[in-house]
Amino acid sequence: MAIIPAVQSLTSRAIDRACEAVLSEDRERSATLRCSSIGDPCDRRLWYALRWAHEEEKHEGRVLRIFDNGHSREARLIEFLRAAGIVVHDRDPATGNQWRVSLANGALTGSCDGIVENVPEAPKTRHLLEIKTMKESRYRAWRRQGVRVSDPRYWVQMQCYMHGLGLTRALFLVENQDTREIEVERIEYDAGNALVIEARAARIFASEMPPARLSDDPGWYQCRFCPASKICHGGEWVLRNCRTCYAASSLQAEPFHCGRTEAPLSLAEQAVGCGAHLYFPSLVEGEVVSADHERGVITYKLANGFEFVDGGSEAAARSE
Ligand code: SF4
Ligand code: SF4
Repeated sequence: MAIIPAVQSLTSRAIDRACEAVLSEDRERSATLRCSSIGDPCDRRLWYALRWAHEEEKHEGRVLRIFDNGHSREARLIEFLRAAGIVVHDRDPATGNQWRVSLANGALTGSCDGIVENVPEAPKTRHLLEIKTMKESRYRAWRRQGVRVSDPRYWVQMQCYMHGLGLTRALFLVENQDTREIEVERIEYDAGNALVIEARAARIFASEMPPARLSDDPGWYQCRFCPASKICHGGEWVLRNCRTCYAASSLQAEPFHCGRTEAPLSLAEQAVGCGAHLYFPSLVEGEVVSADHERGVITYKLANGFEFVDGGSEAAARSE
């Protein structure tokens, strides 16, 4: 019998690299907080992501294929719903695109899977549709506990969509990836919680400094898997781009404008920034010693005792 080596084959590796190139390419950084992530318990993590303080999370080919499989499965599950007599509106007739919601004056946005009618349990009620696939263990946890306990981020996501679309019920449809079981849970709109979520998004969006940490312990389980942990707990510098710049310390929802030149900037332009970039002081681990507004220079005494001069001749030339 042929022995299959434990190391990854060249072909498998090539497929992973191809998936990393193809499946990552259409993921653009978000300029807003997203309904799909606002259920994260850490304000600070959401704020760092909103400010593009760290590199985007990179997923390996295998993980990207899991996401891709979930997306392509949604279309098939919508076909099954339609075959069962449920009316599925997966496009907003006003735009021809996915249904979009925009809350908190544009600070919190998202796109949902659709709106359904003629649901057997309540045929007269329009429901938000949210589709997920789960592996067996997670599926069982959901069936035991309900989505609010088992997957609170999904529950929050659905509250955002119902709030934005004026719906009172959601149909949460899940397929078990291992057994192909399909089951649903009907979720009620919770206006009080939706307003709290919206207010939280507005507060994080408006904050000009990193909000409080979820935990001061870098070993805390949520911090260990957080893409911002090296900045948050390790003192690593944030990236230089328009969203970490002093001229944009007060962030606006789209369209984004540079606070220095008033020029509107695209997402690609924001990612690059310009030579006049100055960190806003709450992002520097140190004390401001002096600020020269004419030259566009801020001098800090860092926590490690060194002096750091932010800005300089190029900044001055560009600000003339
Ligand atoms: S490392 Fe922890 S406290 Fe810091 S942003 Fe991430 S989750 Fe929040
Ligand atoms: S000064 Fe430059 S880096 Fe700062 S917001 Fe304006 S364009 Fe972006």
